Amino acid sequence: MTRQGNRRRTGRLNGLTIRLLIAAAIAAFSLITYFSSGSVNPVTGEKQHVSISPDQEIAMGVNAAPSMAQQYGGLHPDQEAQAFVKRVGQRIIANSSAKDSPYNYQFHLLADNRTINAFALPGGQVFITAALLSKLESEAQLAGILGHEIGHVIGRHGAEHMAKQKLTQGLISAVGVGTDPNLGRMAASVGQLINMKYGRNDELESDEFGIVLMSEAGYDPRAMIGVMDILESSSGGARQPEIMSSHPNPGNRREQIKITIGKIFPNGVPNGLIP
Ligand SMILES: [Zn+2]
Repeated sequence: MTRQGNRRRTGRLNGLTIRLLIAAAIAAFSLITYFSSGSVNPVTGEKQHVSISPDQEIAMGVNAAPSMAQQYGGLHPDQEAQAFVKRVGQRIIANSSAKDSPYNYQFHLLADNRTINAFALPGGQVFITAALLSKLESEAQLAGILGHEIGHVIGRHGAEHMAKQKLTQGLISAVGVGTDPNLGRMAASVGQLINMKYGRNDELESDEFGIVLMSEAGYDPRAMIGVMDILESSSGGARQPEIMSSHPNPGNRREQIKITIGKIFPNGVPNGLIP
């Protein structure tokens, strides 16, 4: 009796051990995959965990652009407004350090006149909705928003996020093989935490990029403070705009923007910049 009971327990234990070993192997594999996919960002010089090349980022963005546009009612039919967004975007690229990045930038005005949003796909596809454009009071404010989105492209935040997602999925499926369902939930929330934390840093980095790029292109960077006011007063909607997402709070962000402007122009913002 006792021996049989022991054997049964041993049998269960072996099964559990094997599952845990498999879980450990999957976790180790996803960690190795993540940490071996490092590459140095050619613009920021930062070591990043990205598993795709800039060419693949461009191809991915170009492929995804039409379906992304479709989610916001397609491209805006007003060709003049469309050309205005493209002109401001290309002015930033042509006159800033963004031209040294390996990406193919294209700027699109989306027809959606209810959803306040702007976003970028990996490789350089940048979008702004008609709803957000209609709230803006100046060309420099548009330049600030497009500069922020160009910042996400140069920072390779999309590709980085994807590499991270792969890591998170690997870790979740690893504990899924293990026994305790709570462990699975824990890994899922840890994964979210990783992504949230990176999201905040990505937004702050993009704000800084945006301010540098717009200033290089001759736009008054103080316009970005006005953009924060506009986003804050219109963030009551159900859909959180990309440009407002995962941030500490708008107050902190405004302070950071002022600090960055002070770094670029230590003697004060000069006259004659495009408002
Ligand atoms: Zn952003």
